[in-house]
Amino acid sequence: MIAIETIQKTAERLMEKAAIEIPDDYLDGLKAAARVEDGDLSSFVLQAMLENYEAAKEDRRAMCGDTGCPRWYVKMGNEARIEGGPVALEAALRRATAKATNDIPLRPNRVHPLWRTDHDNNVGIGAPEIEYGFEPDGAWIDLVTVHKGGLFGTDYRMLFPSDGIQGIKRFYLDSLVAFGKRGLACQPAIIGIGLGGSKDTCMVLGKRAACLRTVGSKNPDPRIAALEEEFKELGNSIGMGAMGFVGKSMVVDCHIEVGYCHTGGMQMSVHAFCLSSRRAVARIHADGRVEYRTDPDWFTDYQRRETVEWNMPQSLSKSA
Ligand code: SF4
Repeated sequence: MIAIETIQKTAERLMEKAAIEIPDDYLDGLKAAARVEDGDLSSFVLQAMLENYEAAKEDRRAMCGDTGCPRWYVKMGNEARIEGGPVALEAALRRATAKATNDIPLRPNRVHPLWRTDHDNNVGIGAPEIEYGFEPDGAWIDLVTVHKGGLFGTDYRMLFPSDGIQGIKRFYLDSLVAFGKRGLACQPAIIGIGLGGSKDTCMVLGKRAACLRTVGSKNPDPRIAALEEEFKELGNSIGMGAMGFVGKSMVVDCHIEVGYCHTGGMQMSVHAFCLSSRRAVARIHADGRVEYRTDPDWFTDYQRRETVEWNMPQSLSKSA
């Protein structure tokens, strides 16, 4: 049984780690971009950001004044048991979010959409978001917090199957140009693309692709992995670099995740995980041990499972 106090303490620590310590995979990606960038202002931004990350770590202060929207992903092994159950878990994550907002401190961004009132703690109706995943084995839970910035760096379009790869590229480039020209998300960013599913799951897939995969990771389908590579290069060839200035460092990495969709459509979403790509992860074991890391390892074979074991009716198996 995992103690609720361990969950809350771990969640508080994760909030701090995410806000202050840029993950190494993103940092390495940014350094690689800085090495090849030759646009004046883009180079300046990259250098300033690399120094900013160092300063944030040294001073134990948030790396960006804009907290973005802190959110939680909870992955549970099938045997995991939590003291007080899922309701206690959610209360602990909400308390940790409020406490971290006060203690670190973080900018309390979350307000009521109509009255613009807030609780001064990043907690409100539906905030922070808490999403769940499960794995077949294990008595552990993984807590992942992401402080998602780049509020406007997201878009969705319903494509048709006949739009094909060319249509996907076109919407991808349209989105990047809009994000860069209108200052909709601070770049370089990790771009996540969701393909398929239904409208809501397409958005979820794209956001998870941006926030829950590390720079350098590849989709296990080699044809999708090749597209990811091509899209990264494509995104860095539109003439825009850091913060949309002239350059070639807009995309630190591009991740694509797919879900089965209706045969008549091809949903597509594009998400930018901004220059402050903040994520932190901890695994809490049943015996109370806590291991911290920065790779959510969300997209396992189980998360991408294709179909289900079933017995095909005899009439169908004969005609097959
Ligand atoms: S988009 Fe990201 S880096 Fe830019 S202000 Fe928002 S949180 Fe900060």
